Amino acid sequence: EQIMGEIMHKYKPVDWDDIAGLKYAKDTIKEAIIFPLIRPEIFTGLRRPPRGILLFGPPGTGKTLIAKCIASQAKATFFSINPSTLTSKWIGEGEKLVKTMFAVATEHQPAVIFMDEVDSLLSQRSDTEHESSRRLKNEFFIQLDGAATNEEDRIVIIGATNRPQELDEAVRRRFVRRLYVPLPEMEARKQIIEKLIREVDNCLTQGQIQHIAELTEGYSGADIDSLCRDAALEPVRSISSTQMNSISAEQLRAVTMADFKNALQHV
Ligand code: ATP
Repeated sequence: EQIMGEIMHKYKPVDWDDIAGLKYAKDTIKEAIIFPLIRPEIFTGLRRPPRGILLFGPPGTGKTLIAKCIASQAKATFFSINPSTLTSKWIGEGEKLVKTMFAVATEHQPAVIFMDEVDSLLSQRSDTEHESSRRLKNEFFIQLDGAATNEEDRIVIIGATNRPQELDEAVRRRFVRRLYVPLPEMEARKQIIEKLIREVDNCLTQGQIQHIAELTEGYSGADIDSLCRDAALEPVRSISSTQMNSISAEQLRAVTMADFKNALQHV
């Protein structure tokens, strides 16, 4: 029960608009995943949806966000497991946990099971892998195949990885749908910045936001998040520790372009 509490999550609902860019991934997910979860009676036979979907791409590009969005949109129960925790924290308990998780997910349908860093569990290490991780992998396959055979089940398994090339054929076969989640393009970077800085008092013009978006080529969404957080702290850094005791939040100066220039030096 305690373990289930750690992997069965309540979360802040995520809307499509919370995810900047990634139009192709979003459109595909709506058609292949969300609609079938909401209207299973339409998606039968030839229209049967894939059970497993693999999101791959650089770190911090919104894979977890997408998984939460799928769960929000389908009003599904959200399970999230990280295989590295599975193998280290509950040594030998991993298989039991995987089995129980699928059983609980079946009871709480529709359900989304998110497996981050899926490569760490399901990579091709046949000669070197330990007996326990091999058994874990097998249990996972059994459960995944079980969920795939029962047409009534409304369970979707979302795997995420930064190293898709390390997944073996057996895994790839089970994640029929594979979606690339790339680094954000300029328009998406701009949207992420705009949304984040709305949370603090700032005096950035549209032109300056555009400029930050241009300067952040190669940044992931998570990098941009760090950058904005850092810039938002600049006004706080500029007050002395004596002022810190008396200053009110309203008295803090607005975040400026210079703060972003500073933050860009180290993020
Ligand atoms: P990892 O591969 O490291 O697990 P990830 O791809 O799952 O990373 P997330 O955890 O979804 O990335 O993203 C990290 C944070 O970056 C999010 O909480 C969000 O603030 C921001 N972010 C990333 N991509 C986007 C995006 N496309 N739109 C809006 N915010 C984003």
